[in-house]
Amino acid sequence: MEWNEKSDLFFSCVRCSRRYPVQHVRYTCECGGLLDLQRDFSRLKADELLSKWESRWGAKRGAEASGVWRYKELVIDLPDSQIVSKMEGNTRLYPAGRAADYAGLERFMLKHEGENPTCSFKDRGMTCGVTAAKIYGANCVACASTGNTSASMAAYAATCGMKSLIFIPSGKIAYGKLAQVLAYGGMTFQIEGNFDDAMELVQKICSELGIYLLNSINPFRLEGQKTICFETLQQLDWEMPDWFVVPGGNLGNNSALSKALMELHQIGIIRKIPRIAVVQAHGANPLYKMWKEKKNFEPLKNPETIATAIKIGNPVSWEKSLRGIEWSKGVVEEVTEQEIMDAKAILDSAGIGAEPASCCSVAGAKKLVESGVISKKDFVVGILTGNMLKDPDAIIDYHNDRLRDQGIIGRYANRPIKIKADVNEVRKVLGL
Ligand SMILES: *Cc1c(COP(=O)(O)O)cnc(C)c1O
Ligand SMILES: [Zn+2]
Repeated sequence: MEWNEKSDLFFSCVRCSRRYPVQHVRYTCECGGLLDLQRDFSRLKADELLSKWESRWGAKRGAEASGVWRYKELVIDLPDSQIVSKMEGNTRLYPAGRAADYAGLERFMLKHEGENPTCSFKDRGMTCGVTAAKIYGANCVACASTGNTSASMAAYAATCGMKSLIFIPSGKIAYGKLAQVLAYGGMTFQIEGNFDDAMELVQKICSELGIYLLNSINPFRLEGQKTICFETLQQLDWEMPDWFVVPGGNLGNNSALSKALMELHQIGIIRKIPRIAVVQAHGANPLYKMWKEKKNFEPLKNPETIATAIKIGNPVSWEKSLRGIEWSKGVVEEVTEQEIMDAKAILDSAGIGAEPASCCSVAGAKKLVESGVISKKDFVVGILTGNMLKDPDAIIDYHNDRLRDQGIIGRYANRPIKIKADVNEVRKVLGL
């Protein structure tokens, strides 16, 4: 398979605007800048797109039944036969319930990206990344990751019979994610060294062995991640929220969100621009620091947080991210370990549930309401990036109040109750 020579897609450098054809594999610009995918918007008409997307809503099979490829005019416009899809997306948009009261918001909705095929939003990007790999003729893909990216990549590679290589740095990794990688058949290399070492190694391997790289620098992944925004807005019948609140690690997700909004705005589908709030964990907060202290970006040496999905000191996409936050008149916030896990306890007990990193959306919204940046009356959409069962250890430890050595108190702990097998004992506990 090959790229259609007439494809209107091209790579464009975010730093120097230099363009490259999409037909040749490329991850970064000669100047070292990241690449964006851009296209010619002049042929896209707002009305036509909206009616196409509406007509595909509820499709039962094939690429149109995917919550990514439903929007293929703004993703990659390909024939169905070229697409590697698991009908990803189509995730629910929940009223936040208890979590809305907790955040102090009258209208708070949560887009649950943990309901994707491998249980995180990474599937939206991966369907595009692996589709691109297939078109480039790759039979092997690789990434350095401690989590959801590797689980997703292993699954999509398995779907189309590709080999996948995963490089895991030493240190803590959430059990659900590692289990998925092994189960999907990803070849897993545990290396000595940190995430940056793993990243350097995988880039060398890809260029020397002709393997397709699916780390965060891959520009196709962001195109798929834009559809979180498209799908949320379609679920709202294009009513615009005042805010999107999203956790920030490598900062690809919020970059995709702002790119999606920019494109909808450019085509004339939306007029009002929601503001973007990116929330980082205090122990992994390089973007927050830069924002708060108004200085140059500086990577953080030893990031630490229980929210392992955002434990990143040197986020790849910070330039793209910043561009989008500024454009949307957005903000950057940070939350503590305690704030993350308390928000998680509330969100989980609302019957919704998500992994720790996702709970930055709830904890961050609460903090921004308290400081008056977000008004109580604002309509806020929070993005829940990953499923609750990705990290069962964090849940069990919190509810047994076993995280004190990490400075986290089980404030809303729901402890298991030990009793003898006796009706009267249950009666006593229930106060009957
Ligand atoms: C990847 C990931 C994030 C961080 O997204 P970025 O695009 O790296 O900012 C947050 N939460 C979960 C569950 C993730 O898997
Ligand atoms: Zn450049």
